[in-house]
Amino acid sequence: MEIQSIGIVGAGQMGNGIAHVCALAGYDVILNDISQEGLDNAVALIKKNLDRQVSREKISAVEAETAFARITTTLDLSDVGQTDLVIEAATEREDVKNSIFDALLPHLKPTTILTSNTSSISITRLASRTDRPERFMGFHFMNPVPIMQLVELIRGIATDEPTFKACLAVVERLGKTAASAEDFPAFIVNRILMPMINEAVYTLYEGVGSVKSIDESLKLGANHPMGPLELADFIGLDTCLAIMNVLHEGLADTKYRPCPLLTKYVEAGWLGRKTQRGFYDYRGETPVPTR
Ligand code: NAD
Repeated sequence: MEIQSIGIVGAGQMGNGIAHVCALAGYDVILNDISQEGLDNAVALIKKNLDRQVSREKISAVEAETAFARITTTLDLSDVGQTDLVIEAATEREDVKNSIFDALLPHLKPTTILTSNTSSISITRLASRTDRPERFMGFHFMNPVPIMQLVELIRGIATDEPTFKACLAVVERLGKTAASAEDFPAFIVNRILMPMINEAVYTLYEGVGSVKSIDESLKLGANHPMGPLELADFIGLDTCLAIMNVLHEGLADTKYRPCPLLTKYVEAGWLGRKTQRGFYDYRGETPVPTR
């Protein structure tokens, strides 16, 4: 089946980026969130990012305007049900995602494909609670969505081939590259990336290095474009902690235990860039390390 309209649930960092790239690729987009403020911020950010692409001559002003006009927003989840493809990109908590799918099911077209942008939660388990496990899969974008080339496509146990092919066609129309991953905790990218970030937090926790020395070491010593703590702030420390918990519980191996310092930052509400404070304080002109 060919996808023409896409519903996106959750208008946070990822949801607004997904709406942006889908609209630019010519899809009609409906963006949903529980907060009107969240929707307003997302729309303003999409406009700003499209304008930036115009000023860098990546797209024309007409393309930006047309893409922007393809995006509508709604607080009513049922409006999303009539789209061909739903991409759930709400908070990384299984209860939140389950309640979204439960509320959405009565409003779906029989053919609608359901997907989740989850970084780590079992696709098979999310799918099994719905009426369409064969038309359910993981559609995992990377952050920032307009810039990052990869999308992980994760089949649940029941996902059928037409669903995989329809999602693959969407990735290709977005001009991105798909990596196919099996449905095991955190899939490929985060299975490798998050333990590294968690180890960087342990390195800080045990006093082996400061925020600055840890980030500089990986940038200059391992040629990483961003330091691991800078990257953790960028991803969101709540999301990092949630993924480590999924790895820890899902693989039952103590090597994945989340660092207590990561938990402490999340308890403080210091979630990284999105709350202006994490391993760095972003409230001034330049980021200042918090340890
Ligand atoms: P975020 O905190 O920026 O945004 C989450 C949004 O979901 C918020 O706007 C919130 O209001 C909304 N929301 C919460 N409950 C909702 C509900 N019931 N209905 C509708 N909206 C609801 O989080 P994010 O970084 O955008 O992450 C979203 C998803 O994308 C998570 O599953 C995360 O694991 C995944 N992801 C994140 C990254 C990353 O780098 N941040 C990368 C890839 C995938």
